[in-house]
Amino acid sequence: MSETLSVTAVPAAVDTVDSVNPATGQVCARIPATPSAELPEILARARAAQRDWAARTVRERCELLRRFGARLYERRDEVAALVTREAGKPRVEALFADVLTSLDTASYYARRAPRLLRPERVPHHNPALKAKRGRLWREPVGVIGLIAPWNYPLAVPLGTLLPALAAGNAVIVKPSELVPACGALLGELAREAGAPEALVQVIQGRGQLGAALIEAGPDKVVFTGSVATGRRVAQACAARLIPSVLELGGKDAMVVLSDADLERASSAAVWGGFTNCGQACLSVERLYVERKVARPFLELCVAKARKLRLGDPADAATDIGPLIRPEHRARVLQQLEDAVSRGARILAGGRPRNDLGPSYLEPAVITDVTREMLLMREETFGPVLPVTAVENEEEAVRAANESRFALGASVWSAGGARGQRVAAQLRAGSVMINDVASYFGICEAPHGGWADSGWGRTHARAGFEELVRLKYVDVDALPGVPKAWWYGYNQDLLDTAREMLETLFAPRWSRRVRSAARSARVLWRRGRI
Ligand code: NAD
Repeated sequence: MSETLSVTAVPAAVDTVDSVNPATGQVCARIPATPSAELPEILARARAAQRDWAARTVRERCELLRRFGARLYERRDEVAALVTREAGKPRVEALFADVLTSLDTASYYARRAPRLLRPERVPHHNPALKAKRGRLWREPVGVIGLIAPWNYPLAVPLGTLLPALAAGNAVIVKPSELVPACGALLGELAREAGAPEALVQVIQGRGQLGAALIEAGPDKVVFTGSVATGRRVAQACAARLIPSVLELGGKDAMVVLSDADLERASSAAVWGGFTNCGQACLSVERLYVERKVARPFLELCVAKARKLRLGDPADAATDIGPLIRPEHRARVLQQLEDAVSRGARILAGGRPRNDLGPSYLEPAVITDVTREMLLMREETFGPVLPVTAVENEEEAVRAANESRFALGASVWSAGGARGQRVAAQLRAGSVMINDVASYFGICEAPHGGWADSGWGRTHARAGFEELVRLKYVDVDALPGVPKAWWYGYNQDLLDTAREMLETLFAPRWSRRVRSAARSARVLWRRGRI
């Protein structure tokens, strides 16, 4: 693959970001960091590239997405291997969650963008304005500053990068410092697909570089990451009046009703809680199960969690790899300790596995958790499934909604109406009935939340709308007729205005009809300026 895969010889004086394998702690590549001082120049180049790019036809822009998808497809196995090596997720997850979803994103927007960008008719309801033709045009925003996290190093940035290009924008990508080789790969794929010089620029560095990117003044910032950073990004953007999309953390609830298929719901619970070692914004982080079925359900979860195989994520049979870094494991352990000290019981897992490496942690099923525990308040970002028995549907909804986050949620029930009823009451940007998290891979499904989960949307039509500027264009079909409301005010116009109000809004139709003829005089009004 790229030269970045080997430890490159970089002079000692040059600042670098290291690509570390979280399974072994080995530094696999050393990538030169982008000096903040270069950002004005990078932005200027992006602006120039964007002007030319926006002038191309939508079809030409979509061709780039097709070629991007084709190149990613050709390189799918080495790309998945890189995601595994740098983000620590099992190969199957790298293929499904990063490569497959990214290929689908490229194909979806390559086909959809022309329709999403077609001028939209805006019919006027007011009869007095029927001689005007309204249209909505969607124009590119300009240069998008895309600041990405490490946990889905392809799927998250490409979920914005590809539609942004289709819409005619240039993009400066700031990948997470924990996955610089995956970040470099995004730029490489864009070049291989034939993206014009400077249309997609990847800058490498830590948080300060992300802050400097905002300071440099892109036209919009699309940020995905933690709540703490999201607040800083929101403030920095607000200070410069730069619009932003913030995709932040989650504390997703899963509600299991007594009529659910427990076998399937328990499989979903362990997958939803532990996929990517629990490091997903849409992880199941709180599970509420109706007491009637709580015992058999918990037994199933515990048995399934115990069967999961921890190990080298590059091994095809590994279910769970390491957390991204030892400090991340320490934070999860701290939440578990806090919970246990307040009375929670760990029924399975929860033990650090130093025999495998300093970032491994056995997936934990934990119960008797209460709302004061850190585990139930903060985002966990680790393989922990806290299960709480509740008396009924109402209590499940109340508990699920007790969170500062509002990203995703799921409901499990065999009865269609029950599931829908609960879904309607849950505070979340998305609710899945009888599945968890997988909507992230559905191109037509908008993704995002509110409250501490951020604002704005990515994916689907709603996400595309974040990457364009709306321009309302109005064409007058009677250009030869001066407008009634123009200057030349006099008693006659005042009377006509009154008649027009009658025509349009009088409660009785007979009055409307009577004044209509008199209002029409406005067309022949004299003495206009
Ligand atoms: P993070 O907030 O630590 O970092 C995210 C990015 O922001 C990185 O590129 C980082 O370098 C950059 N950054 C740091 N400080 C900055 C600053 N002051 N200004 C600008 N940029 C700055 O997050 P992370 O650890 O990489 O990712 C995990 C978090 O992301 C979790 O909270 C997870 O829930 C969230 N996430 C959310 C979604 C979603 O779609 N809602 C998806 C994936 C991850």
